[in-house]
Amino acid sequence: MENRPINYKLSIVAPVYNEGSYIKNFVSEIIEVLDELGITKNSEIILVNDGSTDETEKHMDTLTETYSGLVYAIHLARNFGQASAITAGLHYSSGDCVILMDADGQDDPKCFSKFIELWKNGYDVIFAKRANRKEGILFRFCTWLFYRLLSISAQIPIPIDAGTYALIDRKVIEAIKLCPERNRYIPGLRSWVGFKQTGIVVERRARYDSKPRVGFRGLWTLAMNAFFSFSYVPLFFFRFAGVGSLLLCFVLILFALYHKLITGLAVTAWASQLISISFFGGINLIGIALLGEYIARIYDEVKQRPLYICARTSGLQKENQSKINSPDDENHDKI
Ligand code: UDP
Ligand code: MG
Repeated sequence: MENRPINYKLSIVAPVYNEGSYIKNFVSEIIEVLDELGITKNSEIILVNDGSTDETEKHMDTLTETYSGLVYAIHLARNFGQASAITAGLHYSSGDCVILMDADGQDDPKCFSKFIELWKNGYDVIFAKRANRKEGILFRFCTWLFYRLLSISAQIPIPIDAGTYALIDRKVIEAIKLCPERNRYIPGLRSWVGFKQTGIVVERRARYDSKPRVGFRGLWTLAMNAFFSFSYVPLFFFRFAGVGSLLLCFVLILFALYHKLITGLAVTAWASQLISISFFGGINLIGIALLGEYIARIYDEVKQRPLYICARTSGLQKENQSKINSPDDENHDKI
């Protein structure tokens, strides 16, 4: 079993988008838990402001002053999305292990002790399996379905009901940093890199203000990223649909020939022709759209744009800051 350093450093990384003054409660709750565990001195809390348009930026800067040496802020140049904000936080983190969590109160920091205990016992990734979600029934059904469909169709095992909340060992973080893709599904990448992983069941608390920042469009993008990044099932599906329609076509030809040559009955069914044309036309168009989806993703990768742009940081030590902001920075190049 791998030995963990005795005086290990813990990084906590949280993406923040328009969470306003709640960010202060978030940080104080975390510090309370770190104090209880006696690890505050060896920890860092990295808040990534994902282009917030409210007073989040101001509150974050105040926090970096109040908790100088413990709380750090990275302000992105615009809203790049949760996955990019997390990636930025991972690049700036320096702990032996990193806890990824939302900044909206849904992820309970009480789990830290269990995470750390399992990490010390040799697990490299400990993810939270969400239980007792507090969202509406339709939302819960959609996430239930999403995780199960993804799990069936993904090329690698992706655990069911596991979101971003997790403790991740440094070597796994380094492995994730080697994945340069633009359309990122963090729980998928975390599974893809491998190592020793386990999950613990965690009750997901309610959001402090019941207004999700990701929204329906964001969740749809996330789901699409998950499917298109980790599964070829959409394409396989159309392979089967293609073969199926060819077989059907063959049967129809036999049927027509049979009536023409044997029974002598004329086939006059123009309605069924229209139906079949529109049906197969529809299938073709959906197939082309799916191909387009993969092509658009290839185009995204080819453009090689950075995943995020950092406008400024606050609280970071000077040497650290200049190293991180340097365009020559090895890690930044890889993003
Ligand atoms: N978030 C972000 N950028 C965005 C949207 C959300 O950094 O464009 C942050 C948000 O502030 C929160 C986390 O990502 O800390 C998760 O957001 P949300 O609670 O809306 O998502 P859910 O809990 O539904 O996954
Ligand atoms: Mg949330």
